Amino acid sequence: MQNIKQIKNLKGKKVVVRVDFNVPIEGGKITDNFRIKKGVPTIEYLVKKGATVTILTHLGKDGASDIAPVIKEFFRLSKLPKDKVFFEKNVRSFKGEEENDTKLGKYFASLGEIYVNDAFSVSHRKHASLVAITKYLPSYAGLQIEEEVKQLSAVFKNPKRPFLFILGGAKFSTKMPLIKKYLQIADYVYVGGALANDFIESQGMSVGVSLVDHTISVPKNILNHKKIILPKDVLVESKYGRVVRKIDSIEKEDNILDVGPESVKEIMHYISSSKMILWNGPMGKYEMLGGGTTKDILKYIAKNKNIKSIIGGGDTVQMISEMKMEKKFTFVSTGGGATLDFLANGTLPALKVLQ
Ligand code: ADP
Ligand code: MG
Repeated sequence: MQNIKQIKNLKGKKVVVRVDFNVPIEGGKITDNFRIKKGVPTIEYLVKKGATVTILTHLGKDGASDIAPVIKEFFRLSKLPKDKVFFEKNVRSFKGEEENDTKLGKYFASLGEIYVNDAFSVSHRKHASLVAITKYLPSYAGLQIEEEVKQLSAVFKNPKRPFLFILGGAKFSTKMPLIKKYLQIADYVYVGGALANDFIESQGMSVGVSLVDHTISVPKNILNHKKIILPKDVLVESKYGRVVRKIDSIEKEDNILDVGPESVKEIMHYISSSKMILWNGPMGKYEMLGGGTTKDILKYIAKNKNIKSIIGGGDTVQMISEMKMEKKFTFVSTGGGATLDFLANGTLPALKVLQ
């Protein structure tokens, strides 16, 4: 992968930059500008070296959203001159973007002489503004992608040990490749959140009415792997209200909401004896619990300054952003699905083509 620092001469060059400025907007107002902030350094770098930049981004899922608020916020944050940075329309408003259409790739390429991808969080997608465009221009990674790749690769290339992988959230089937891979790399894999329900059920115990991904059961070699650690107790919504239960005594009306206090103690014990932690996915239904145990455990990691901590996942990172704790960890990834795919496969479709 080539990055923008390797471009020899940028003076007077027209550069097309794909970013992910897909920010949440409510009533015309941006409610979290994190993604725009993260994209500024690459564009500043290019403009300072004498280039003019055309920005490509999507906003919303279907291309219907007008990017005007994003443009305004970008210039407010970057203070770059308006005659140095231009915005193309929402890329998803073009037919063929999501089909990786060659003609559209060629059109995007016609907006400049050099292409830069700085949109890590969508680089797991084969879209025209990410992949097809690279057929027509010399293509480079931006600063944000460079940082993501460097930080996330450290996890599977040279982990500090003991290395603890904490995995929560939902949908076991989508996270199984990660578990498989990190059972080989990490020293311990703690499984919490709704994922733990799949394990508990596959061990033949009841999880009541709790969320389970029934598309697949947990394979024996994962279930019985000695590196796997499961919660010992959980907080459930029961017919008596919220109570803590041991995992072998969950009743048929119970709905598991979070890991229990004994489990939190055990997680903290593993954390304090680790040198590196990779975390993806909350330990419980954090939205309805004001953060629940996930918040407490994140705070505990943040206090342990000598632990290398790498955190990824849409919901997990959203929590950290709401707690204003981004700076308290070694690295907080901007990607959701992209981060998981990168951690599982070591590369992404839109990164492979940057050469
Ligand atoms: P991330 O986006 O960080 O990768 P996921 O999308 O996999 O995480 O999972 C987040 C979701 O998992 C949240 O909506 C959360 O409420 C849910 N979740 C976590 N634990 C449980 C549980 N025990 N029961 C139901 N949902 C859960
Ligand atoms: Mg999510």
